[in-house]
Amino acid sequence: MASTATQRAIGPVVLLGPPGAGKGTQAKRIAEHYGIPQISTGDILRANVASGTELGKKAKAIMESGNLVPDELVQQMVADRLRQPDCARGYILDGFPRTLAQAQWLDNYLKNQKDSQVAPVVVDIQVGYNELLGRLTGRRTCPTCGRIYNVHLQPPKVDELCDVDGAKLVTRKDDTEEVIAERLKAYERQTAPLTDYYQSQGRLRALDGAKAIDDVTGQAFAALDKARP
Ligand code: AMP
Repeated sequence: MASTATQRAIGPVVLLGPPGAGKGTQAKRIAEHYGIPQISTGDILRANVASGTELGKKAKAIMESGNLVPDELVQQMVADRLRQPDCARGYILDGFPRTLAQAQWLDNYLKNQKDSQVAPVVVDIQVGYNELLGRLTGRRTCPTCGRIYNVHLQPPKVDELCDVDGAKLVTRKDDTEEVIAERLKAYERQTAPLTDYYQSQGRLRALDGAKAIDDVTGQAFAALDKARP
């Protein structure tokens, strides 16, 4: 999609939705359109695991089991990232917050910022359980450029190879059936209550995530343009 980045301050955006809802795909499009960084806690954690940092060592086994990494570790990681200058006009959080404690921490963090008094706009991609299962078991990722495919719904042009750079696509370690079931349970137990939290504050914008990818992107842009005209 062509970039039409606007330079207005869009502020913090939170992208909610269960695993497999398309958060990664939509976050990349939103980031490009508004010219803001995508902050994916899953991606940052995976990078820490790959390079063997202290944080990565603590997170590895938890991530492979499909459970959530402790709040304090993820919050510290997010605080470090939000301090970077590229976050000044806004940013999109993809995969954070994941618990009520993280959502409250984020509200508190934002309140204490001198120059960023705005509460986040919260966009929730809603998709039914069976649809999610199909998407997660078919998901493949390009290890080089991060592009996401689905062998059933959105296959690459050449089997198992990235359309953009030809790299061999990989299945994420936590996209196996048992781990997927754990991740969906963790979502129901710990993350689904966030929709009520943000809804009760009148901050939730729900998107119909069962629609085609471009349609969901259109819904997201419309919701954000309305919230931050
Ligand atoms: P994701 O790529 O967003 O699906 O995240 C992959 C895994 O990273 C999750 O299953 C968790 O183990 C961990 N993770 C990512 N974000 C968070 C978070 N906000 N809080 C706790 N754990 C997280």
